[in-house]
Amino acid sequence: MNFELTEEQKLIQETARSFAASELEPLAARLDREDDRPAFLANLKKLAELGFMGLNVKEAYGGSEAGGVAFSLAMTEIARVCASTAVTVSVNNMVCEVIQAVGTEEQKRAYIPRICSGEYAAGSFALTETGAGSDPSAMCTRAVQDGDHFVLDGSKIFITSAPYAGVFVVWAVTDKDAPKGKGISCFLVEAGTPGLIIGKQEHKMGQHASATNEVIFDNCRVPASSMMGRLNDGFRIAVAELTGGRIGIGSLGLGIGLAAMDFATRYATERTQFGQKISSFQALQWMMADGYTELEAARLLLMNAAFRKETGRSFAKEASMAKLFATEAANRACYKAMQMLGGYGYTQDFPIERYTRDARITSIYEGTSEIQRVIISREILRNFS
Ligand SMILES: Cc1cc2nc3c(=O)[nH]c(=O)nc-3n(C[C@H](O)[C@H](O)[C@H](O)COP(=O)(O)OP(=O)(O)OC[C@H]3O[C@@H](n4cnc5c(N)ncnc54)[C@H](O)[C@@H]3O)c2cc1C
Repeated sequence: MNFELTEEQKLIQETARSFAASELEPLAARLDREDDRPAFLANLKKLAELGFMGLNVKEAYGGSEAGGVAFSLAMTEIARVCASTAVTVSVNNMVCEVIQAVGTEEQKRAYIPRICSGEYAAGSFALTETGAGSDPSAMCTRAVQDGDHFVLDGSKIFITSAPYAGVFVVWAVTDKDAPKGKGISCFLVEAGTPGLIIGKQEHKMGQHASATNEVIFDNCRVPASSMMGRLNDGFRIAVAELTGGRIGIGSLGLGIGLAAMDFATRYATERTQFGQKISSFQALQWMMADGYTELEAARLLLMNAAFRKETGRSFAKEASMAKLFATEAANRACYKAMQMLGGYGYTQDFPIERYTRDARITSIYEGTSEIQRVIISREILRNFS
């Protein structure tokens, strides 16, 4: 077994780390407090130019073809500094990968290079609805065929990057009488298509620079050629693509957790109480030991899931385990980090409160921790039946 990263993986990790330090760090705290979308989008463009929007996408479509491990490493480095940027990069990669996996050659050539190059600031993955979150098969958005078009009606919520996405991957019911999950299809809808309306933006607890909006389809006509994959096969596509996305969100959680522990550990070596550095107290040393041990375990779970993905092995259980553990460990790391800073950790003068807010959503989106446990236990029980 070889735990060494390849030279290419090290290079991508180092490039992400130095970009985050030079371009994201000066902005991250300000973008948490105030809206400056042009500055946020400018960094996304630079990341696209560096090849971070299609890390697991073929070079023929403008991707970097660097693989799932490199993607995980890059996500962690970006999230160590700016979780809002990281989630946008993760969703962009996921959108590119779903088009690459099930799109026609024409769809791949039309949309993937635009996301990879930064011509489109983002792509959106529009699955969730008010009545269909953990259970997306309960969706109500309809796509009705009308000659050589489909007409979409309904609405999605919580859609990352919607106001600046160039293209939306949208799931809609195409056979309302089919058994649950068997009558859903997947479409590519370009921004600006009449009837596609960007609705209200959510006011979130964290990840403020990343927009999260309602998306409404009101008599939205798209050519029948916008369908991706086969008619009524969309739910299977969503489930498959979310599996890869979970490695991205787990890696993002790991990045936030590491940032919190690094900050708190450095602080503990500088802060004095009772005439000694607080890092000399065993209570804090154990927080460090536990925090970093959990994050290292998270990293290994993520590397395993990413390696299995890029080598063509099954990885659904491993991706869910990695996402579950890494995001919960990240939340625990933020809790410990705040404890290590005492009252200062609770103020906006230090980044721990931002990390805590940014980490919280990672165990909710792209499948809650409870849903990861459902998937993991289902995969385990498969071997016992
Ligand atoms: C900031 C943000 C960004 C997002 N980005 C996107 C995006 O880009 N695209 C997109 O499509 N969606 C997106 N989402 C939606 C996100 O994926 C959902 O919020 C998430 O899947 C949970 O769905 P829900 O909010 O409806 O919660 P619910 O499904 O209502 O869950 C509520 C609670 O019930 C639990 N629960 C539900 N079912 C079960 C079960 N079977 N067993 C045990 N427990 C269960 C859940 O774990 C949770 O604790 C985003 C959400 C947020 C907040």
